[in-house]
Amino acid sequence: MKNIFSDAQTFKEALTTEVAHRFGRDFEDAYPEERYLVLGSLIRDQLGNTWKETKKSVAEHHTKQLYYFSMEFLMGRLMTNNLMNMGVYDVVKEALDDLGMDLHNLEELEADAGLGNGGLGRLAACFLDSLASLNLAGNGNCIRYRYGLFKQEIINDQQVEKPDCWLRLGNVWEVWKPQHDVRVKFGGTLDAYMDQFGKFHSNYHPSFVVRAVPYDEPIVGYHTPTTNTLRLWDAAVDEESVQAGKLNEYLNAVSALTANVYPDDSTEEGKELRLKQEYFFVCAGVDQIIRSHLRTYPTLDNLGEKTAIQLNDTHPVLVIPELMRVLMDDYNYNWDDAWNIVRQTVAYTNHTIMSEALERWPQHLVRNLLPRIYMIIEEIERRFYHYVQARGMGNRFAEMSILKDQQVHMASLAVVGSHSVNGVAAIHSEILVNDVMNAFATLWPERFNNKTNGVTHRRWLVYSNPQLTSLLKEYIGDGFIRHPEQLEKLMEYVDDPTLQEKFMNVKLERKKILAKYVHDELGIDVDVNTVFDVQCKRLHAYKRQLMNIMHVMSLYLRMKQDPNFRVQPTTYFFAAKAAPGYALAKEIIKLIVKVANRVNNDPLVSRYMKVIFIPNYSVSIAEILINAADVSEQISMAGKEASGTSNMKFMMNGALTLGTLDGANVEIVEQVGYENAKIFGLRVEELEEIKRHNSYDVWSIYNSNPNLARVIDSLHDCTWSSNPNEFQLIFNDLMLHRDEFFVLADFDAYAQAHREVSAWYQNRPAWARAMLINIAKSGYFSSDRTIRQYANEIWGLDEIQFTPEQYEKFGFEKEAE
Ligand SMILES: *Cc1c(COP(=O)(O)O)cnc(C)c1O
Repeated sequence: MKNIFSDAQTFKEALTTEVAHRFGRDFEDAYPEERYLVLGSLIRDQLGNTWKETKKSVAEHHTKQLYYFSMEFLMGRLMTNNLMNMGVYDVVKEALDDLGMDLHNLEELEADAGLGNGGLGRLAACFLDSLASLNLAGNGNCIRYRYGLFKQEIINDQQVEKPDCWLRLGNVWEVWKPQHDVRVKFGGTLDAYMDQFGKFHSNYHPSFVVRAVPYDEPIVGYHTPTTNTLRLWDAAVDEESVQAGKLNEYLNAVSALTANVYPDDSTEEGKELRLKQEYFFVCAGVDQIIRSHLRTYPTLDNLGEKTAIQLNDTHPVLVIPELMRVLMDDYNYNWDDAWNIVRQTVAYTNHTIMSEALERWPQHLVRNLLPRIYMIIEEIERRFYHYVQARGMGNRFAEMSILKDQQVHMASLAVVGSHSVNGVAAIHSEILVNDVMNAFATLWPERFNNKTNGVTHRRWLVYSNPQLTSLLKEYIGDGFIRHPEQLEKLMEYVDDPTLQEKFMNVKLERKKILAKYVHDELGIDVDVNTVFDVQCKRLHAYKRQLMNIMHVMSLYLRMKQDPNFRVQPTTYFFAAKAAPGYALAKEIIKLIVKVANRVNNDPLVSRYMKVIFIPNYSVSIAEILINAADVSEQISMAGKEASGTSNMKFMMNGALTLGTLDGANVEIVEQVGYENAKIFGLRVEELEEIKRHNSYDVWSIYNSNPNLARVIDSLHDCTWSSNPNEFQLIFNDLMLHRDEFFVLADFDAYAQAHREVSAWYQNRPAWARAMLINIAKSGYFSSDRTIRQYANEIWGLDEIQFTPEQYEKFGFEKEAE
C-alpha cells in the first residue's frame, strides 16, 4: 500500500491528480470548494485503511465494544483534528504551501457539525476523541439530522433563528451504508396472545414504517491506528409501507423524522416527533448491535460480556424496552434471562437535577406510538413494584415508579433497567444520591457512581491554541498530548518570570485573533489590553447571564453618575443561543445587545468597558473565544449546573474561574486552590436553608441596596430602550416571581468578586502565575481521564490489540507500557 501522506511531494501529486479526476480541472483552476472536497476525501480514504485494521483486530481478539447512544453529537469541524490525530498535518500543510494555498482557508470551508444543543452533545464528541486515542473500541450512535440546531443571527437586537445547512457541501467524512438498513415501526395495532406453552406472541400491524439507513464517520485516535465509528441514521422510505392514497403524507412524515435537532436542552415539550426520533435511532442502533454480535458469536447469551451501551441522558432510554423486545420476541428469551442481559449491558448517565428537565412522556402517546414497547414498560413497572415491596421499601415506591401521573418517567426507567447510574461531577452525583434519586440510591447504593466530565485537551488546547501548545512543549515536552496529567510538570516553572512573560504574550496573541474576528464580523474594535471577561454557554436562567449583564449595567450607571468612579478596563464577551420558544432567555439576549449598543457608543464609558455579543455560538466560535479569555464566568446558581465543561476548556487555556461552588467548578478549585480562582456566592446548603425557611425576599434586597435598585429600575425607565415594557419579562421574573435563581441574593458578592479580580489583574506576575497554575492543574479535566474511569469502572473495556507492524504501517510508534 502506498501511503500518499508519507511526504509533501507524494501528497501534492495525489492531490492534484485527484482534483483532475474528480472535477476535470488543474489544481490551479479548481474552486476552493473542490479542493476542500478532494482533500477531505483523500483523508477519509486513508482512514479507511486504519478503520479496516481496527475492525479486524476487534473481531479477531473478541474485544469488548462500547456503543455510546446520544441524541446529540456536537462535533464541530474535523479536518484539523483528523490531520493532527493522523500525524500528517505538516505534510499536508507543506504540500498546500507548495501549491500556493493556505491550509487554513480550506479548513474554514468545513461547516460545523452542530448536531446538538450544547454541553451534553459536546461531551459526546469529546468522548469519541478520547475513546479512539486510548485505543478503546467505542462507537457513537445518533441521528443524521439534515439541519443542525439553528444559525443564530441578531436582527433588530434580537435573536433570529435561521436554518443551519451544514450539509451544503455534503459531508466529506461520512460513508453511506445502504446495505445495513433497518426497518423501524410505529403506531398501529398489536394483537397479543399466549400459546399452549405459555409463550407470549404478538402480531404487530404498524401504521408507519421507515427504513433507517446508516452513514458512518471514522473517528481517529491520536497517533494510533484505532479508528472507531460514529454512526448517524438517516430515514428513508419503505416502499411496501405506504398506505393507499397517503403517499404525500407518508413522504412528509419520513422527511420530518430526521429534519433537525430538537432545539431545547432544558425542558421537554411534548413533541411526538421527538419521541419518534428517540425510538428511531434506538431501534436502529440496537438492531445493528445484535446483528454485529451474531456475526462473531453464535448466541446473544454473552451480549453483556462483549457489549456495553451507555445512555447519554434519558433520550435513548428506550434501548431498555427495545432490547427486551428483541431478545424475547425475536430470539425467544424468557423475561428473566432477557432482563439480566439488558441490565448487564446498559448503563445510564444523568445530566440534570432540575425537575422540569427530567424527561417524561404522556402514557397515551407512548402507548399509541410504540404499543409493544409500552407493554414491556408496564411489565417492567409491575415487576419492579413487587421487587420494591419485597425489599420493604413500598413506602417509597411512588418516588421511584416509572408510570405515574399519566406519564412515563424516563429517568426511573433508566435507573431500573441499567447496572450503573452516574452523575457528571462530584457535587452533582452527591445531590443525585442524597436528594433527587435518594429512594433509588437507598435501594441500590452500588448502582450509583460519579464520573466527573472532561473535555479533549487535544481539540481544546493543542489544536485550537497552537501558540500555547508550542510554549508548553518548550518547557515540558510533548508527552502531555497523550498523557494530560503531565501538564503538572509546568508547576516547576510557574514562578519563572521568563515563562510568565512568554505566556502573557501568548495570551495577547490569542486576544488579537479574537479581536480581529470581532472587528471583521461585527465591525467593533476592542482593546486587547483590557481584561477579556467571557461567558459563553446556552442561555438559561439558571446559568445567570442576567446577573452578569446586570453587573455591567451597574458599572455603567455608576460611571455616568459619579465622575470619580472608574474601573479596570474590561471587555465583556457573551455568546449564547436561546431555545426558540424560551421567551425569557430571548429577552435576556435582547437586554445584552441593547446594553452593548449603549455602552459601546458612549464616548466616556467605552474607554473603560465594552460589551460584545458574539452571535451563533458554536464549537468553532468556542475555539477562538475561550482561549482568548482572562476570566471565565461560571456563575450558575449553586446546585443547578450538573458539571459544566466550558469551565474546563477555559482553565486549560489559563483563564481564571470567576464562579460559584457549582458543578465541576468545585473540583477546579480543589485542583488549583482557592487562591488561584475567584469563588463567590451562596452555596447549596445556604440556598437550601433559605428555601426551607421561605425567607427569600427580593423587595427587601431592593429596598436596602440602592445600587442594585437603580439597575432594576433601569429595566423600565427607558435607559436601554425607548419602550419601557421591553424588559417586562425580566422584571417580572426577578421581582414578581421571586427570582427563582437568586440573582439578587448573589449580586453584591458577585460585584465584590469582580473588584477583587480587577485588582488581581493589575499585578501582572501574580496574575500570570495563577493562570499558569490553572493550566498545570487542568490535566485532570481531560476526557482521557474521564473515559479511563468509565472504561474501568462501568464498561470493562480492554484496549484494542495492534501488532507493532500495524503501528509501523501507519507511521506510528507503539508506546511502551
Ligand atoms: C463546551 C461547549 C458547551 C458547554 O458549555 P457550558 O458552559 O459547560 O454550558 C456548549 N456549547 C459549545 C459549543 C461548547 O463548545
